[in-house]
Amino acid sequence: MTSKSGPHIVIVGAGIVGAVIAFNMSRRNANVTVLDAEDPGQAASRVSFAWMNGRDKNPRHYHDLNRRSVDMWSRLERLLGGDVGVTWGGELRWAATREGADELLARVRELQSWAYPIRALDEGEFREMEPNVEPGTVMAASYTAIDGHVDPPRVVRACLDRATEAGVTLRTNTKAWGVKLAQTPSGQTRVESLETSAGEIQCDVVVLAAGADTTELAATAGIEMQHHWTFGATIVTEATLPMFRTAAAVHTPRDAEPMMNFRQLPDGSMMIHGSSHDANDTASMGRTDEEVRQVFEAAKVYLPSLERVTIKEVRRGRRPMPADGLPILGFSQSVPNLYFATMHSGVSLAPLVGEFATTEILDGARIDLLEPYRVERFAK
Ligand SMILES: Cc1cc2nc3c(=O)[nH]c(=O)nc-3n(C[C@H](O)[C@H](O)[C@H](O)COP(=O)(O)OP(=O)(O)OC[C@H]3O[C@@H](n4cnc5c(N)ncnc54)[C@H](O)[C@@H]3O)c2cc1C
Repeated sequence: MTSKSGPHIVIVGAGIVGAVIAFNMSRRNANVTVLDAEDPGQAASRVSFAWMNGRDKNPRHYHDLNRRSVDMWSRLERLLGGDVGVTWGGELRWAATREGADELLARVRELQSWAYPIRALDEGEFREMEPNVEPGTVMAASYTAIDGHVDPPRVVRACLDRATEAGVTLRTNTKAWGVKLAQTPSGQTRVESLETSAGEIQCDVVVLAAGADTTELAATAGIEMQHHWTFGATIVTEATLPMFRTAAAVHTPRDAEPMMNFRQLPDGSMMIHGSSHDANDTASMGRTDEEVRQVFEAAKVYLPSLERVTIKEVRRGRRPMPADGLPILGFSQSVPNLYFATMHSGVSLAPLVGEFATTEILDGARIDLLEPYRVERFAK
């Protein structure tokens, strides 16, 4: 047990979301225990393409939330002492058909009206910006200036190192089975303790940051969430020479098959995410070796120098996905000491979620920017 005083806050899940909340709370000297069923940062956060962006986020309030968080990343990086793989450079994509170009340019106009730093490029500019990319037909292209990417397992490690140095208790290989509820004399239902593989842990607040497994933990508090997961896979290559001159993330045409996302990590390895229109919009290709081969062969068409590179590993996992695609954040109304923190885009949103969840939990504030994301919306 931790020797700190103050309410005991137990965070279930040490992916990027749970870890960044623990880190922010440790800066306030809070009495925190973080537990993870396995090793921290090895689930969705490790598989993630980890693109920090507001580019693909709708509706407007969700775009704004992501934009704000992307702008907070440099500060989080600095607070963590740097060295978490933050790579800036923007995002580049193009369209291969007339229809795709119309869609891409309409999105550029919409994002410009939201003051997102994005602009359209012609083919000449595209090729000058990224001479190692062989795009084929370029009907239109766009470039955002502020997007970047990061290495989530390093973020998790840095957050937990800082948090434990400040007195947070970390329990790895400790699975939470569920919460135990009790009624207060005034008839309120509250979490009394957490039942885990290492026994019962008394707590004043429980934060569910268990990614794809949040649904089953919420059910033990009688809360039904419309939260699922989709399959996700990323291919990581051996290190190679610098691939991109300008962009941090490159997206191949959304109007061609397969759709691919490329980024180069600071150690020189390439990360490739492939998806297909046949699959759910957010599901990845890569369940089988054959799908991995298809994605990698398709990647070589756009990045011919991948011919000289071999695959180091394929990361596969479950991507947390609330039914409406929006985060689930905040205290539950029916069990008011149970806090939810689960989402897709947990990488883009990590700095903001870490700070906002800490303010709501430690100060009892209700941040109005988070109102669209409360768990109660599924009960309506
Ligand atoms: C292929 C792919 C591409 C993605 N691309 C992007 C992107 O470009 N940009 C972006 O912002 N986001 C992206 N995401 C989403 C992003 O990675 C996730 O939103 C984020 O990693 C979620 O973090 P998390 O901490 O909530 O979950 P996780 O990283 O899954 O961590 C949850 C943790 O909870 C633990 N846990 C689960 N159940 C229990 C239990 N009962 N008891 C104790 N511990 C438990 C697990 O062991 C795990 O460590 C992508 C995801 C995938 C899979």
